[in-house]
Amino acid sequence: MHPPMNNAYLLLGSNDGDRMQLMHTAITMLEKNGGTVTSRSSVYETAAWGITEQPAFLNMVILLQTTKTPTELLAETQYIETTLGRQREIKWGQRTLDIDILLFNNEITEFPGLTIPHPFLHLRRFTLVPLAEIAGLYEHPKLKKTVTELLAECPDKLEVRKYA
Ligand code: ATP
Ligand code: CA
Ligand code: CA
Repeated sequence: MHPPMNNAYLLLGSNDGDRMQLMHTAITMLEKNGGTVTSRSSVYETAAWGITEQPAFLNMVILLQTTKTPTELLAETQYIETTLGRQREIKWGQRTLDIDILLFNNEITEFPGLTIPHPFLHLRRFTLVPLAEIAGLYEHPKLKKTVTELLAECPDKLEVRKYA
């Protein structure tokens, strides 16, 4: 029997170092050990959220097809973050690379240390804009609205623009 294939939407973010290169390296590492990237959004430059006095981020959303469980996937993404030099000093501070698991199939996961859908997904334009580009009609399993609907209602007004 084959293990089931899962659809995981991941948000990549970087605001320290060679931001574009770091995101591409992360994708290469995910393809090597995590699964297959079957869709990716454009890259966006986004104003920092939470702690706004820091450099702008590059963000993109990818669809990873994976046989991993959510917990296994989190371990893999944290390994990649650490390998690419992520240091956890300040909550929401500057980072070389962040990978958030936004959605995993239509599942709702609430473990200590792992919440899916990501708890801030619907409150962040820097997440919703790239996610809407590749998964606009995807229904949030808890809020029961599509990503496009969530974007239209999102109160966040921070700048998100396509990066050349
Ligand atoms: P935010 O989660 O608000 O975007 P952050 O990305 O800066 O903030 P991190 O320091 O990267 O936060 O992660 C803190 C913890 O969040 C991780 O150790 C991880 O266990 C937990 N976590 C919970 N749910 C998720 C998820 N869906 N994806 C990634 N990490 C998660
Ligand atoms: Ca994050
Ligand atoms: Ca994170």
